[in-house]
Amino acid sequence: MKWKNKGHEIDAYAEKVCALFETQKQIILFGAGRIGTQFYRTLLTYGIFAGFADNDMDKQNNGFEGQPVYSPDVLKDMGAMIVVSVGKEYCDGIKHQLESMGMTEGINFIMAEEFEKKWFPVLSLYYFGKLYTNLAQICVTERCTLRCKKCAHACHLVDIHSKDISIEHARHSADSFFGAFDFIREFVLIGGEPFLYKDLGMLIEYIGEKYRNKMELFSITTNGTIVPADDLLAICKKYEVTIRITDYTKSIPRLEKNYKRLYETLELCGINSVVWETDHEKSWFDYGFDANLVKSAADTQRTFDDCKTPCREVSGGKYYYCVMAHTVANNMKLEIGEMDYFDLDSDFEKQELLEFEIGYSKKGYLDMCSRCRGKEAENYRIPAAEQVGS
Ligand code: SF4
Ligand code: SF4
Repeated sequence: MKWKNKGHEIDAYAEKVCALFETQKQIILFGAGRIGTQFYRTLLTYGIFAGFADNDMDKQNNGFEGQPVYSPDVLKDMGAMIVVSVGKEYCDGIKHQLESMGMTEGINFIMAEEFEKKWFPVLSLYYFGKLYTNLAQICVTERCTLRCKKCAHACHLVDIHSKDISIEHARHSADSFFGAFDFIREFVLIGGEPFLYKDLGMLIEYIGEKYRNKMELFSITTNGTIVPADDLLAICKKYEVTIRITDYTKSIPRLEKNYKRLYETLELCGINSVVWETDHEKSWFDYGFDANLVKSAADTQRTFDDCKTPCREVSGGKYYYCVMAHTVANNMKLEIGEMDYFDLDSDFEKQELLEFEIGYSKKGYLDMCSRCRGKEAENYRIPAAEQVGS
């Protein structure tokens, strides 16, 4: 979306959200499961979490994550805003259930996607005065121990001996980000393979000391090929860093031994680890960055508007809307998209940054969207983690 009234694009929406919330004051997550788990700790931090709701009677009787789980029958009387936090396949069913109980979308309940991408960030700034985002990353290195064809960051094109960002640049990124944002659901250190970054421990300590209270989750995403040294693990433990491991054993069976060693080590150290072993990891989306797509400006705009990627990147004082767009352009040496960022080190109003976060910008899209399939990429599947040369 193009900025037409920068700093005031969402005033009318924000007014409605705040007026409604003033009468509700609390949020219930309908769906005591994976999606609800993503949100509830942030809502607890804001002091506005009333509990979960679920049709599952076992969950109603036993609670979930130590929180109450209400029967849908009592929701109308509770008067809280309900966020439908279930998988796509169940959304319509829950929506009809709530409507059949006399509730209306946008007034009594809202779907998780709108809540996450717009409603809650708007509430956070306009009602609580806090600039919030869901996910942002620092790419500490573009080097990687694997060379996956179609790596979404194009890291397979990067020389293993090339230079990483300096610790000063990484600290600058964190300072600029947390100077602007008041709270983030997940702040990620990513690569390439982040455990190749020699100053990772120093960076975690720096961010952990200064900003740990401004994030719910502090995480590292790794391909699991490196078992970090004990001193680095101690730092991860101290600052409650979650290690997210993408499990590629289905494509690269030889990695099984590495993963076993890594899981065992993390468990011994008492570090929280999460393994991603989803359908998404068995097959990847081909975004088509190397397919020489030809698109009109209108199609490029449409690709951006439909995409709604959640993955921001901060690099120095530059806040990039799409981590893939930035890293792929760099690693493929495309020399486009160099202006596709929000300058965190400039003077700006928080409303302007929130609008950028929601998808507003001067052009209304990123240069790289002209080379990308965006949401359509889910229809172009490729085997996950297929290695160059295999
Ligand atoms: S997909 Fe991940 S593991 Fe594969 S080359 Fe890219 S960064 Fe490395
Ligand atoms: S369409 Fe644009 S914003 Fe979305 S993933 Fe592609 S390059 Fe990034």
